Amino acid sequence: MKCSACYSEMVNKKGEIDLRIGGRLFIVRNVIYEECLSCGEKVLPPEVSEFLFEKIKNEDFIEQIIHVPILDGTYG
Ligand SMILES: [Zn+2]
Repeated sequence: MKCSACYSEMVNKKGEIDLRIGGRLFIVRNVIYEECLSCGEKVLPPEVSEFLFEKIKNEDFIEQIIHVPILDGTYG
């Protein structure tokens, strides 16, 4: 598969990704996805994406407190 952003080759990976759905940030572990080696674009296979949306809909997840670095992007 080619990257939709830069048309480079994408590779299969398995690991952790983050998703923003409906204003919430979800961390997804042990998931398979394709990643562009050139620009870092990540794409989930449609069936996996559907599977995850179903889990979110059914609230089939755990909640954990994580520390995320927050930057203030005010410039000039
Ligand atoms: Zn790319």
